[in-house]
Amino acid sequence: MAAGSLLEVRSPYSGGVVGSVPKGGRLEAQRAVAAAAAALAEPLPAYERARILDRVSALLLERHDEAARLISAEAGKPMKAARVEAQRAASTYTFAAVEARKLAGEMIPMDASAAGAGKLAFTLRLPIGVIGAISPFNFPLNLVAHKIAPALAAGCPVVLKPASATPLSAQFLAGLEREAGLPDGWLTVVAGSASEIGDVLVEDERVKLITFTGSGEVGWKLAERAHRKRVKLELGNATPAIVCADAPPDAAVKLAANSFSFAGQSCISVQRIFVLADAWDAFVSSFVEHVERLKVGDPADEDTDVGPVISEHDRDRILEWVRESRGDVLTGGEANADGVIRPTVIASPAPDDKVQCEEVFGPVVTLTKVSSLDEAIDGANATRYGLQAAIFTRDLQSSLAAAQRLEFGGVLINEAPTFRADQMPYGGVKASGNTREGPAWTIHEMTEERLVVLNL
Ligand code: NAP
Repeated sequence: MAAGSLLEVRSPYSGGVVGSVPKGGRLEAQRAVAAAAAALAEPLPAYERARILDRVSALLLERHDEAARLISAEAGKPMKAARVEAQRAASTYTFAAVEARKLAGEMIPMDASAAGAGKLAFTLRLPIGVIGAISPFNFPLNLVAHKIAPALAAGCPVVLKPASATPLSAQFLAGLEREAGLPDGWLTVVAGSASEIGDVLVEDERVKLITFTGSGEVGWKLAERAHRKRVKLELGNATPAIVCADAPPDAAVKLAANSFSFAGQSCISVQRIFVLADAWDAFVSSFVEHVERLKVGDPADEDTDVGPVISEHDRDRILEWVRESRGDVLTGGEANADGVIRPTVIASPAPDDKVQCEEVFGPVVTLTKVSSLDEAIDGANATRYGLQAAIFTRDLQSSLAAAQRLEFGGVLINEAPTFRADQMPYGGVKASGNTREGPAWTIHEMTEERLVVLNL
């Protein structure tokens, strides 16, 4: 890697340069791991870690506008959604600060067996060590926060590799942590060559845990290669929602908004909607009507609902998948004059159409008519993914049957499957991953227990 070279960041909407960061590779990653290992040798007490986390949360609120504009500029995320992300990042820090203050082991009831009688035992919860964090482009601030805030709460220094398309928000957040008092070495952002930086995180034995959010293709390979480390994966989905005949009337509005915000580039954007036959006509017309009202265009405009996808390559891929589908395109199906894909609704796709069985990660939703709840649940489960799913019904039994039978990490009832609050345990089953994020859960993963037994 040439010394002093820069990684240029371009707007996915205009193509103009919106910033740059130093470009790193193997050497920079090795230096960052060494600095993190040195930081670990001088632990920060929990009250100090919590104070820094609280301060970052306050700074994020103070600089909300700047954070939202940065997200929007580099990711092409409409300001409405970028503001939500910036707000949520502050809450991620607050929850991490709470957890830092509560981090403790537990007492073991030793006299519960004759062997333990006369002994006192407890566990200490200790930082696992240096953490390698790899983040995706689509939530460049809050998904970085979900890695680095719990790591600090747990007492672990981090080497962070942000997505090459969106490193500016990560750099901004690292600046806030420094401003809040984080000493050197505790967090180093290394943007640049994914394979070089990834190789260092996989190969260096001082890195004890890799936390990865992104595509399954990359994530599972990392897990295979780093089999002696903890590798925690948050991966994709082909998110389903079921609409029953007795669904609350706002189901179509909620699903329309949550299918297309950030152009469907959230791992839990609604992608496949299964509609019971009795609800079909009314739902389809209401859904399409609400989709057609969404404002498509410049992400910097505060009124825009749907902006560009991250790259021309992805735009071409998504439009190709739409063309290949054997379903009926009810609306959208093409890009507007600015190259932004119009929100696209496809009715009755074939089960093996890519828009139905793969993760589209774009502004495309399919509608499938089903004759029973069983058929809807089977359809929702007919994917290798399992992150979040939803059902809309007023019937208690249907909702609880779905909650039990939908093979997903989270099931939402009368709420879009796109819903996430930062204190939730969030994560997938099957090909969608092997962990739960949310500060309390992440901190658990980033620490290990040491047993202490005292002979009385
Ligand atoms: P991606 O292409 O897998 O990239 C994710 C990160 O991995 C980027 O930082 C990327 O770096 C890095 N990377 C790529 N190759 C690597 C390698 N060989 N070694 C180490 N790191 C490597 O995913 P994306 O396109 O950014 O994000 C979209 C995907 O993320 C979707 O599948 C989405 O569903 C998933 N996602 C999941 C969640 C969740 O919480 N479950 C949340 C958001 C997104 P470069 O950018 O430099 O290539």
